[in-house]
Amino acid sequence: MVDKQCIESIASKHGCKDCRWISGGDVKVCQWVRFKCTFGCDSYGKKGTCPPAVPSIPECREFFSEYDHILVLRITSTLDDPNDRKEWSRKKNLALLLLEHEVFLAGHHKAFLLFMDECRLCNECPGTREGCLKPAMARPCPEALGVDVFSTVRKAGFPIEVLTEYSQEMNSYAFLLVE
Ligand code: SF4
Repeated sequence: MVDKQCIESIASKHGCKDCRWISGGDVKVCQWVRFKCTFGCDSYGKKGTCPPAVPSIPECREFFSEYDHILVLRITSTLDDPNDRKEWSRKKNLALLLLEHEVFLAGHHKAFLLFMDECRLCNECPGTREGCLKPAMARPCPEALGVDVFSTVRKAGFPIEVLTEYSQEMNSYAFLLVE
């Protein structure tokens, strides 16, 4: 039994007040997302939580199908200096890991977090799962698992747009899967 109110209050305590529930069936997992990671993303092959160091698209689909409750967490930012993004993202994802841990301790043994951005916990990443420097803490982001984040969060009623200028507010989304 998922106590949604309890989990939302834990999320709020960790600074995530804007969140909505979806189910695993609402998560759109697409092959085209994997192609965009493979051809066009600088992080391909450079992160232990990004393609190709992640499960296949069919495996990702099966993974999401095993969860009836997913809390989508909206995190907004407008950073003055583009160079601040990596550190900001690292701190946010570290805070989200504490949230996942607290939800786990509240009795939700399947609690699993997807970072709001690629894993940036370490300055240098070996680029493989086997070589990961913090294997217990590393988590993939939804995109790395083939999630069409735009369609999925829009369906949940959240805003998300392609940004054309750095000064625009950015909407990022982390997923907390629970049961
Ligand atoms: S925890 Fe560190 S080594 Fe592991 S995937 Fe993340 S950045 Fe790479």
